[in-house]
Amino acid sequence: MKGEGRLAHKFHGTYWCAIVIGFDSADHAIDAQRALGDPWKVHPKEPKALIAALDSAQLDAFKTKYAPKARPCKRRDCRHGCVDAAIDNLNHSVDVGPIFDVEIPTTPHEQCALLGVGT
Ligand SMILES: [Zn+2]
Repeated sequence: MKGEGRLAHKFHGTYWCAIVIGFDSADHAIDAQRALGDPWKVHPKEPKALIAALDSAQLDAFKTKYAPKARPCKRRDCRHGCVDAAIDNLNHSVDVGPIFDVEIPTTPHEQCALLGVGT
């Protein structure tokens, strides 16, 4: 399931970040949520998107497992234009990361039913 995401840094107290990932449809978001598990939730205001608050360890695990890829950006003050950058690189901005693409491997509903697994 392809998603388009963005991370917001939270430096107050212990570091954490909020990540929102948008999908093509609400069904896609639900499938992706099932694959991602806690703490990912469907966005309360946007059924096509998932949202999560991650601490540093959870963010590292997300980056390792799903290899989200930052899109090169055109911000003038972004030092390397986010080429080959991490989704949480601070060259881009201390507030938000660059837009990134991520692929969440999922098993579609219909396939679960055929295989007799899941709900
Ligand atoms: Zn950038």
